[in-house]
Amino acid sequence: MQQMHHSSSSPSTRARVSRLLAVLLTGVFLCLTFCLAGCASGSGESGGSTDTSASVSAASLPEEPTLPGTGLTVCIDAGHSDTPNWKEERIIPPDYDLPEGLPASAEYAPIEPGGTSGNLSGPEYAVNLDVALKLQKDLEAQGFTVVMCRTDNSTGLSSADRAKIANDCNADLFIRLHCDGASDGGVANGFLTLVPTDVGYQSENDLYEKSQDIGEQMHESIVEQLGVNDRGIQYRKDMAGFNWCTQPSVLFEMGVMTTPSDDEKLATDEYQEELASAICQATVEAIGAK
Ligand SMILES: [Zn+2]
Repeated sequence: MQQMHHSSSSPSTRARVSRLLAVLLTGVFLCLTFCLAGCASGSGESGGSTDTSASVSAASLPEEPTLPGTGLTVCIDAGHSDTPNWKEERIIPPDYDLPEGLPASAEYAPIEPGGTSGNLSGPEYAVNLDVALKLQKDLEAQGFTVVMCRTDNSTGLSSADRAKIANDCNADLFIRLHCDGASDGGVANGFLTLVPTDVGYQSENDLYEKSQDIGEQMHESIVEQLGVNDRGIQYRKDMAGFNWCTQPSVLFEMGVMTTPSDDEKLATDEYQEELASAICQATVEAIGAK
């Protein structure tokens, strides 16, 4: 178009007319080009041949990567709250007998006995929530849908209430976060995992076996990732949070707050991040898409 413009710079009337014509033609050409490009990009790959760039880039786009947690739900229960509640709940749903081997006095347990605490790390309920919120972020980044039992420290829930939240969202895994206390003068330290046994709702369809498999696998992975002392795995029949739960369930005692070395670590944001990251990685390994 520029060449036409130059060649028509003669002062004669005919030249002026042809210059006008050239400008008009240029306008029409540009309009047409834009229209075609617009139509082509609007209709995707089947668009006109004028816009090859649109169809090429659409065809060469890499497939959306599938994250390991896509389509899976994890329910996170940050243990305890800031308000003790000594009312009691039955440790197992009413349609089940008290598990064999437990004394009659174990049939009911306080709704919120309050947790332990550390000199530096503070109350257990706060540390549990801090790690829970970090874990939520990590799991969501891996594509999991995360349901939180609580996101503040004043929400009071019984253990059965917490299990029901996991049941209601059909959680693929119910992760309960706690810290321990001990009266051994600051010796016990490290990571302990609790899993359910063949009682309550966990006895249905051998669900407890799935909980135990997941718990054992996650425990090994977490202890190795953190390089902490292995306090082992406990198989429990006395915990309402397990016995009322219809979903695979595990509980982690992330450290011993009454032991100075664990207390010191649990007080730091860095170690809480490490805990969350290790639990997230273990979750991916145990239930994530392979
Ligand atoms: Zn606790």
